[in-house]
Amino acid sequence: MTVTHNSKKVGQMNSNDRKNPSLIADWKTLERIFIRPEDEACRKTLVKYMEQILFGLHDFLNSNVGVTQEISLLELTNLYRDTLISPDPEKKLENVISDIIHKIAPRAVNVASPYFVGHMTAAIPFFMVHLKTIVAALNQNVIKLETSKVLSVIEKQVLAKIHRLIYRRDEAFYQTHVQSVDTSLGAFTTGGTTANLMAMWVARNHFLGAGVEQQGMAAAMQAKGVERAVILVSKRGHYSLKKAGGILGLGNSNVLAMDVDQHQRMDMKKLEVTIRNLKKDGKTGIIAVVGIAGATETGTVDPLGEMADLCLGQGIHFHVDAAWGGPVLLSERYAPLLKGIERADSVSMDGHKQFYMPMTSGMVYFRDPGAMDQIAYYSNYVNREGSVDLGIKSLEGSREANALILDSSLKIMGSRGYALMIDHGIETAKAFAAEIEQRVMFEVVTPPELNILTYRMVPPDVCRRLEHADPKGREILNGYLDELNIYIQRTQREAGKSFVSRTRICPVPGSEGGRVVLRSVIMNPMTTNAVLREILDEQERIGQGFCDPIPQIL
Ligand SMILES: *Cc1c(COP(=O)(O)O)cnc(C)c1O
Repeated sequence: MTVTHNSKKVGQMNSNDRKNPSLIADWKTLERIFIRPEDEACRKTLVKYMEQILFGLHDFLNSNVGVTQEISLLELTNLYRDTLISPDPEKKLENVISDIIHKIAPRAVNVASPYFVGHMTAAIPFFMVHLKTIVAALNQNVIKLETSKVLSVIEKQVLAKIHRLIYRRDEAFYQTHVQSVDTSLGAFTTGGTTANLMAMWVARNHFLGAGVEQQGMAAAMQAKGVERAVILVSKRGHYSLKKAGGILGLGNSNVLAMDVDQHQRMDMKKLEVTIRNLKKDGKTGIIAVVGIAGATETGTVDPLGEMADLCLGQGIHFHVDAAWGGPVLLSERYAPLLKGIERADSVSMDGHKQFYMPMTSGMVYFRDPGAMDQIAYYSNYVNREGSVDLGIKSLEGSREANALILDSSLKIMGSRGYALMIDHGIETAKAFAAEIEQRVMFEVVTPPELNILTYRMVPPDVCRRLEHADPKGREILNGYLDELNIYIQRTQREAGKSFVSRTRICPVPGSEGGRVVLRSVIMNPMTTNAVLREILDEQERIGQGFCDPIPQIL
């Protein structure tokens, strides 16, 4: 199955093409679209496109456009400037779908390409499209039982399964809570950002007392006798925690970025000292300490066990942001890397990252099944007190039945199926790091603990000069390397075959500014060592163009 592609037509549409006198908005047509597709012929076409979407789209994109079709952002934005809604229908459904497949998809980003290794968004198993389609077709709203019934019951079951994966409580515990009306083991969210926000919301209310929800921060802090409330997370913390600080009224400058050690993990000595000092002044409340299981930039895992010891000993809420790394628990081989997570008060995980679910889905879990009582809201038309309505303890209101996707996927894959993907990611990342080390043009900056690594190009000549340079000279040389690596990342992205991302990392604790590094995330099972070697080859070619000759000023 292939999708035919007419490149001449791409982007040549203007508003004159839009008028289609045969299309009218009338009641008869309207009724039809709620019952079945326009007519038999159209129905066949729609089925044909569904086949293409399921089986042909990725093949087509991989073989014809690589990662994305080349077009400048300016050209692209100029095609989308019309701001009037057409009063009359412009297109039939089959033509709309055909346009999306032929004109829009090639200019989207083919995140399923094995050469797309720069971000945490990648290929998903093809059955996810079926499952997502079913969720859309059923259109359940799990805000309440009346609009979802069995889907709410399934959500509670899936939440219990993942809770058990994290916390490994006994069978009796899960029998008590799996379908309990009064308690909650967690919640589905739209993603890691909202999962972190929910965890911090619960932690804030737990610390300041339920009055904070009603009276606000000023009254609650006064009652508690504190002048400010903080969240502690390492410098590698995800910026969603800053948002949580802002939204929850702590102020995002009170989300304190703790130093990391040379492995990019929480510096435990500094954390201990910070907590001791904060407690000493008596004016600061510590809402939560956050450990990271799979940092967004480096994939590193904080010393969760030591952090749990510290927090539990002092009665501080310990949250683990496992948005990225959580599913590593499904791998027998690598689950021990997350040891300590089972002692967290709360854990966030993303569905649309390493559970390989389609956008957008996240989850948050609480060790204490009563913890979410802190954020219960009722209303008379939905979510009456005493009902099992999932909307009672949830940041979101209306929500799709994403639990059905995860539940089905766990059935299709089993934990072993997921483990194959997790293990492949981690082991391929390690092999990639070895390949980078072997090449004279590159150095690994942060080796992969999970399946994310950062590296940069350092031509041997610059490397030698770095070793002998004084601080001022090193600054100039590192500035040159930053430019070189930005150039490589940008040029490769624009060429459109491969994609790695870039960020700025301080490889040495305490050093200022940081260095530009290339970042790759290995999560696509189709990304092989051979693919990664090709990506490095291309980067070497691009880099050589930039460095020839190396400027005299260096
Ligand atoms: C991706 C990520 C988040 C945010 O999740 P979204 O789904 O993008 O909202 C939070 N924390 C970590 C560690 C992440 O990797």
